[in-house]
Amino acid sequence: MKLGSRCLAAILSFFISTTVWAACPNPGESRMQLQVLGAGGPRASAGRASASYLVWIDGVGRILVDAGGGTKDAFHAVGANFDDIDLVALSHLHPDHSAELPALLWPAGGSALVAGPTAGDAFPSIGEWLDTMFGAEGAFPILGPRIELDSITVDVTSADPVVVYRDGDILVQGLSVPHGPVPAIGFRIDVGEASVVFSSDQNGSDPAFLDFAQGVDVLVIHLAGSETYRIGPEALHARPSVWGLMATAADAGHVLASHISTPSPEELEARLGYLQDNYGGPVTVAEDLMCLDVR
Ligand SMILES: [Zn+2]
Ligand SMILES: [Zn+2]
Repeated sequence: MKLGSRCLAAILSFFISTTVWAACPNPGESRMQLQVLGAGGPRASAGRASASYLVWIDGVGRILVDAGGGTKDAFHAVGANFDDIDLVALSHLHPDHSAELPALLWPAGGSALVAGPTAGDAFPSIGEWLDTMFGAEGAFPILGPRIELDSITVDVTSADPVVVYRDGDILVQGLSVPHGPVPAIGFRIDVGEASVVFSSDQNGSDPAFLDFAQGVDVLVIHLAGSETYRIGPEALHARPSVWGLMATAADAGHVLASHISTPSPEELEARLGYLQDNYGGPVTVAEDLMCLDVR
């Protein structure tokens, strides 16, 4: 390691949170915990599975956000049970966010509400996608009789958040986010005073997202693009510096940097540096199975 990169690593280790993560489920001081089932991205991700997060509320794993490839093992390893899942919130239908759902449902099946986007570009709506996966003419008709999945669609042409789930003081909202031509949704979960926002894959060009995420306790960002990643409406991902500016503008209390799609520690370090040049709050690098109190 050169001296310069060693200094950078030392600086980063100072600024990156060293919070001790609670085991999940652990109601602890907060009623909500966020557990990472997959912190990786679409490409080789240094052993991380693709995107998936489990939200524990009052000690029960009730909300699954995304279901990317490789996350079934983690779902079972953390003691989650699909019978407890009320809501599956799929940010979009790229395989690294959705491909594991059939595996999670096999063989026991289950019932849940599934939230996802309207159709667009090469992608069906969430309702059409569920039909093509589990309908009688679908890819996995064997699962049809074992599951009961209702869908709720978030209109990606609307600038307004959509309530996708509410139960007492649990509120889940979805909002369209710009992921190039791909219909995609960010999700915000509020449980009492605690809140988490899942940014999804996005290029960071829509200021409406900053209102949506305003004052959030934990902002989950997808650090899939480099600092030289293309910009413009066709861009799929935000540059790390843009994520930092967004976290600052949203007044996020804590950033969880996830969807890490690089096998190179040096490149990850560089991206974190650009992020933290523009956001002064605590940043934690997501790892599979990591769990944190949301407060
Ligand atoms: Zn992705
Ligand atoms: Zn994507």
